[in-house]
Amino acid sequence: MKSPKITAIRTHLMQAGPLGVSGWGDVKTSITTGTRNWLFVTVETDAGITGLGEGSGWPRVVEAAVSDLAHILIGQDAFDIERLSQRLTVAMMGHGMNGVVGQGAIAALDTALWDIKGQALGVPIWQLLGGKMRDRIRCYTHASTPEQAKDAVARGYTAIKTGGVANPVAKAREIRAAIGEEADLMIDLHGPPWLNLPDAIEICRELGKLKPLFVEEPLAPENMEGYRALRRAVDVPLAAGERHGGLHGVAPLLFENLVDVIQPDSGRAGGLTGLRKLAGLAEARFATVAPHSGSLGPVAEFAAIHLLAAIPNALILERMDPDWPGRAQVTRGVVPVMQEGHVLLPTAPGLGVTLDEAFVAASPSVRNCGLPSGGWPKGTEGATLYNQPRTPRMGIAQKEA
Ligand SMILES: [Mg+2]
Repeated sequence: MKSPKITAIRTHLMQAGPLGVSGWGDVKTSITTGTRNWLFVTVETDAGITGLGEGSGWPRVVEAAVSDLAHILIGQDAFDIERLSQRLTVAMMGHGMNGVVGQGAIAALDTALWDIKGQALGVPIWQLLGGKMRDRIRCYTHASTPEQAKDAVARGYTAIKTGGVANPVAKAREIRAAIGEEADLMIDLHGPPWLNLPDAIEICRELGKLKPLFVEEPLAPENMEGYRALRRAVDVPLAAGERHGGLHGVAPLLFENLVDVIQPDSGRAGGLTGLRKLAGLAEARFATVAPHSGSLGPVAEFAAIHLLAAIPNALILERMDPDWPGRAQVTRGVVPVMQEGHVLLPTAPGLGVTLDEAFVAASPSVRNCGLPSGGWPKGTEGATLYNQPRTPRMGIAQKEA
């Protein structure tokens, strides 16, 4: 077979609508809702095959990075995925260490190359990654209230995530009471910079009583020394990694056994080339993989599905369900097929989705950053944003509901 040569690279940036599940703050300004952007990248070839990828890591900025990198790939053999990943990495060396922006660009381009190869060979990407380990992948969705949690369980979900920066312990107790002991519970603390080690220890000890599948980002990702001390202090399963970029960003959590679950973001962990290497490192450390896709669009979610289909240590897939209805329109109505709280493996060649470019273009990017909003204790409005959530201490002392 003649290898396809890359002829053009185009970016498609959009403003995504608010999440379907409330409780994520002000829908106009919150970093997770009103300022949510999705960046899709299409890579065209002389074989008539177009690959599709998605990059996160600040999509508006990643778009500029992808455009700047395009000439590195034009004319190259689209099948040489590993070589092109290295070529992109080396092209960015002069800009310093490769963070989430550079890794977001690589992720978008790399995913598109895997899509091209799958389409050219007529097989889904999971087939290229070693074949299927399972026929369906367990999923979780989010809930902020007991009612939302019960609704998700009624729709077949067997695992629910809650959390937030305001009163996560009280919220987790309410949701555990609502879903009972049969469903799994996860709590995301979102690793804000004000969450210090003593608070993280006390919160993790309280949450441990609820027997969660994991407690996520109990500390800021920059606080590696904190993770070391927390690991020694508590025995609840810990998860982290979504805000780190690429293989070298996430891997240190595994080198020191600081987490039980890694959560590489499928839009900024170096694409499927980076994700499969991380999965191997996690396997060597007896850790499992639960890719982050909460803020991502549908293309990166499909990339995560292909990864989890093929690796031995897949734990669970994050889903935003319900989400903004436009999510399905981005991929022309092709969405993950759900069955009893699991997603079935896609069978179409490549990634299995194509982009509705006209729909994406009709929702241009307006803004792509914002402050966390809401949930501060009354009477702290005059304090800085940094101090508001620390008074009182995250609702740790709240009596059991
Ligand atoms: Mg998270």
